[in-house]
Amino acid sequence: MSDLETAPDLLTCNPEAPHAEVEVLSPREVPLGGLRAMPVRRTLPQRQRSLIGAWCFLDHYGPDDVDVTGGMVVAPHPHTGLQTVSWLFEGEIEHRDSTGAHAMVRPGEVNLMTAGQGIAHSEVSTTGTTTLHGAQLWVALPDSARHTDPGFQHYAPTPFDVDGARITVFLGSLAGDTSPVLTFTPLLGAEITIDPGTTLPLDVDATFEHGVLVDDGAVTLHGTRLDRAELGYLTPGHAVLRLVNHTAQPARILLLGGPPFGEAILMWWNFVGRSNDEIIRFREQWQHEIATLYKGAADVAPQFGLVPGYVGGPIPAPTLPSVPIKPRR
Ligand code: MN
Repeated sequence: MSDLETAPDLLTCNPEAPHAEVEVLSPREVPLGGLRAMPVRRTLPQRQRSLIGAWCFLDHYGPDDVDVTGGMVVAPHPHTGLQTVSWLFEGEIEHRDSTGAHAMVRPGEVNLMTAGQGIAHSEVSTTGTTTLHGAQLWVALPDSARHTDPGFQHYAPTPFDVDGARITVFLGSLAGDTSPVLTFTPLLGAEITIDPGTTLPLDVDATFEHGVLVDDGAVTLHGTRLDRAELGYLTPGHAVLRLVNHTAQPARILLLGGPPFGEAILMWWNFVGRSNDEIIRFREQWQHEIATLYKGAADVAPQFGLVPGYVGGPIPAPTLPSVPIKPRR
């Protein structure tokens, strides 16, 4: 028999389809701090995967009407052993921390806070914000750097166009652009908007593993479709990432990468450490500072410290689990 169609469509058989090279990590919804507990979509860490490079935590949120969610109101809380990376698509967040840094987190500008041995900070969406939309990420510090002094970096990268896409590199290097922001392990962080019907091959470091978080629309990564809020994971060994937007809408993603972290870490609440005892000490120290420093007592060398300019009380640490915390790697 023969096809009787007089003008048959050219069919493209997708040679990538049978291979599921890409692990799809689905988000779970978690309430964040705030009056009405603004919901966030958490894709890292999860049972299936804890880290992508040194990226160890990924919350994606919005676009949310802050009249409904109450916006972001996160009172002073401590961190150790990590860097926080704040990236907004819409809205504005006021950042304050115990190093004295006071900054506005704005769309397209990266704010990277190094907790190192210890920091306390607050994050509050500004009164002018009507829609909040962004991602909050953490980067684990390697053992050699995790006791470093706390610090804060801000950088406003310039977006640039390649064929069918717009790229903003906020950490590491991609497509000829390099971020000056300092990290303690090689990392990649970029926002990419891919035009409808576009195939975007990206040269990347083959020693990196990569994650693709879909913020808006849908993309296909090495033959696997990723929908909004999903995180696709690709192992090291790829010198070119093959991203395709098969849809009729623009697709916006965050591309994350780094070499496999290689160290087992313990994560509990806002702390990254290496042992259960260390996590217990971090928690006790924070509770001690709440009971002393945050009540007006003097402390010459606190581990975390006060957050200058924040009006209101700190967030107490939750109760520790009765069984020791398991390491993640
Ligand atoms: Mn925080």
